[in-house]
Amino acid sequence: MASLTGGSYPPTLDNPLELERLVQTVKDWTISNGLAVRPSPASADSDEEGMLATSAPVTLFPSPFPKSCFEEAKAVQTKYSDLYARISRDEEFLEDLVQQVAGGDDFIDNLWKVHLRVKEEGYVQNFTLGLFRSDYMVHQDGDKLQIKQVEFNTIASSFGGLSSRTSLLHKHLAKTEYAFLSNPIPSSSLNLPENRSTEGLAAGLAAAFYAYGKSGFGHPTCVLFLVQDGERNVFDQRHLEYAVQQAGGDEPIPVFRLPFSQILAHTQLAPSSQRRELLYHPPHNPALTFEVAVAYLRAGYGPGDYPTSTAWDARYQLERSNAITCPSVLTQLAGMKKVQQVLATAPEGGDVPPALRRFLPDPSDAATVTAIHRTFTNIYPLDTSPAGLTARTIATDPSQCLRYVMKPQREGGGNNVYKSAIPQRLSTIPEEHWGSYILMELITPPPATNTILRGNGQVEQGGVICELGVYGTCLWDRETGEVVHNEESGYLLRTKGDQSEEGGVAAGYGCMDSVRLV
Ligand code: ADP
Ligand code: MG
Repeated sequence: MASLTGGSYPPTLDNPLELERLVQTVKDWTISNGLAVRPSPASADSDEEGMLATSAPVTLFPSPFPKSCFEEAKAVQTKYSDLYARISRDEEFLEDLVQQVAGGDDFIDNLWKVHLRVKEEGYVQNFTLGLFRSDYMVHQDGDKLQIKQVEFNTIASSFGGLSSRTSLLHKHLAKTEYAFLSNPIPSSSLNLPENRSTEGLAAGLAAAFYAYGKSGFGHPTCVLFLVQDGERNVFDQRHLEYAVQQAGGDEPIPVFRLPFSQILAHTQLAPSSQRRELLYHPPHNPALTFEVAVAYLRAGYGPGDYPTSTAWDARYQLERSNAITCPSVLTQLAGMKKVQQVLATAPEGGDVPPALRRFLPDPSDAATVTAIHRTFTNIYPLDTSPAGLTARTIATDPSQCLRYVMKPQREGGGNNVYKSAIPQRLSTIPEEHWGSYILMELITPPPATNTILRGNGQVEQGGVICELGVYGTCLWDRETGEVVHNEESGYLLRTKGDQSEEGGVAAGYGCMDSVRLV
């Protein structure tokens, strides 16, 4: 199999002094520049005051990544964002899929109920904001390298604040360190593209903030980040907050953080107002009143954030308010893995999947359909349709299942079932609920190597797998469909050891990386 690594790049650092020097440089640069996370709970025991920060896990070298694949993924992003805006507006389409999975999935069912409640009284805010991230791996098929989508994220797409910094770290090392290794790497030999993910995501939030307009009550307006309690990835979010504030220039945009669990304690709908403005009273000074223009969810994507019915009341309060939500419930549901599967599944002998046609029906959409369709790998339902029955045969077969991953309708890592574990897991799930899972062919990237510096200071050299994410920001009108902002907004490269199946950085599997285009 052709290797992307080729030649002597990235080098294996056999000389302990060279390795130590590079590791120390990275430890210092990451803290100096906020490429950091809060310490893990184990080390946080000695940090009662919450003062400590530690380097985010990173690779010591930018990983080689095929230029054509990188450019293809970037180029298709605005098309993807537009597609997902259309899906979010197609209630009938989403309702059908929700019904297909809801029997085996309370969480999806509860989200749908929030939408139904708000729909009954009528939405007051027409704008929806999406800060999306489409994730890919490079699939090697013979000599051919193709970009294939892993998933499309419509809620809490993270790491935009740290990934632009990882690009800067590798650019810094390329200029100041790699040239002085015993196997020197001239900086001119490294094609390291710019990555403006922080500014790009902030521009999306700012676009929504300005689209909201002024408060009818004369209150100052603000952007509210809704976050998880005890978030370790707080600096990723902080970088984004600072960039949103700065996007206001001489009149900084007010940004606040509020734990998702405290929405009802510190926000209220404007009393007796038809528009249901969302008012925020900062806990440190409740005499102040802000009108929330944008409610940005970095929480609320999984059942863990909804321990009681109060949390669902909080989500309902956001959804029915006049704040522009990022995302709305329907947009969150558009990110279900079931949606991705339906977009990718063509009937036997069919060419373009009918669901893709549904959203891109015009002859003038042909190029977009082709561009998106190329990025799909095989994904099957696990229901009783003909494709679903084929998938059931594969998934319960001990040898065929080795080329697949089975996914429930969940976000945030740690939920998928891989390869040989699939038949056993299915045997524990009542057959009438199999339809709430999808079965996806594994993408097999070309072999690559790198050196990873973990958060605990451990250094790992060896085989790695890279996953590219491309950010897209999109603001649209749910009634008219008008798209008022749609930009490709930078990228994320996450790299994991090649023995690991899951890839999440926050979940502890992967690390931050950037691309060296080859
Ligand atoms: P989550 O919503 O939990 O992030 P993903 O679909 O992104 O779920 O899967 C988690 C991880 O599993 C990915 O980051 C990737 O490393 C791996 N993975 C998922 N799907 C595939 C696939 N089809 N081929 C290879 N690896 C995959
Ligand atoms: Mg993922």
